[in-house]
Amino acid sequence: MIRIVFIIIMLVLYTPAVKAGDSEFIKWLNEFKAEALKKNISQKTLDLAFRNIAEPLEKVIKSDRTQAEFTQTFWTYMQRTITPKRFDNGNKNMQANKVFLNELEKKYGVQGSYLVAFWGLESSYGENIGNLPLIHSLATLAFDNRRPQFFRNELLEALKILEKNPLQPEKLVGSWAGAMGMTQFMPSTFNNYAVDGDGDGKKDIWQNPQDALASAANYLQKINWQEGAHWGREVQLPPKFDYNHIGMDIIKPVSEWNKLGVKTHRGEPLPENYNESSIIAPMGISGPSFIVYKNYRVILIWNKSELYALAVGLLSDWLSARDSAQLTIPDNPSPLANNDIKYIQETLNKAGLYTAEIDGKLGTGTRQALREYQRQNAMIPDGYPSTQLIQQMVQKYGRPNP
Ligand code: CA
Repeated sequence: MIRIVFIIIMLVLYTPAVKAGDSEFIKWLNEFKAEALKKNISQKTLDLAFRNIAEPLEKVIKSDRTQAEFTQTFWTYMQRTITPKRFDNGNKNMQANKVFLNELEKKYGVQGSYLVAFWGLESSYGENIGNLPLIHSLATLAFDNRRPQFFRNELLEALKILEKNPLQPEKLVGSWAGAMGMTQFMPSTFNNYAVDGDGDGKKDIWQNPQDALASAANYLQKINWQEGAHWGREVQLPPKFDYNHIGMDIIKPVSEWNKLGVKTHRGEPLPENYNESSIIAPMGISGPSFIVYKNYRVILIWNKSELYALAVGLLSDWLSARDSAQLTIPDNPSPLANNDIKYIQETLNKAGLYTAEIDGKLGTGTRQALREYQRQNAMIPDGYPSTQLIQQMVQKYGRPNP
């Protein structure tokens, strides 16, 4: 009797209190499960996957809603990303995996230094793979996030992983946004491109570097990596260079850029002979310029951030001792305030040049609109929001809203 009372008390104590919003989440979850059943996920997998999930994961909601106040410039990003430690560990991993990386290059056509660069940037060579329960994170984002359809689909893909692998769902971990393992693949990328690198029958991108590297190589090959080709290099632009030629939308053969007087960072003619290339200047005329080739666009498919793609290329070059850039990072690089970028987007909108979201992020769309604004206002169209540009906008369009 005492024992039964004790059990009842324990049950009362341990039943989690239902918080506001939970019933909505449960309702959503039931709808989702019905959809998953129709899409060939078994009841058994669903019961297992959601056995401990009754409310959204607070930590994920917090991370999703925390907006950075500053956008990193090229310099601040490189300083934070290609640290001496990441470079040293990259060299060690190049050595430690030398034979295997050569095999991968033969099989997939992707140079080992790029694979190690992705591995280093995505997870610090496996040191930082994220430890949140994947199913719970994705369910939270599919329920709460601004992009519910994207995460709902990834949640279905994650359930497919469980369906195929007898695995405790709690062991399926990732970042708060659902990226998994040493390559930080989303579940759909894993299902489409992950391979078994060491031949033990499992695709373990969480713990097994050979599986992670082979999966990265296979993914890059399938999204059209140009075999043995490079991403780009730092360039010197001639004194009278026409800045209307800057941007990913202007594509020319390298030979054309040579004719226009574009040189390597050492002042020599561009040595590569590719059909498609563009010139980019991530910090405008005040920073370094790069010529970028087809493989740079392939890196952008993996992650659409311009700075990320440049970091992959530069880290790979430094790991393979390719002489492509001579960057000297200034002592105190300052980031761009997101509020400044928001003001610029609002002004571009007033000027009829920008209709996308006012999100404070300096993406390709904002840069293109900015270049057009600069053209119309007799400024150098480098697509970079300098202090002078903001001053000009304030004079013409008034002060930013507080
Ligand atoms: Ca394996």
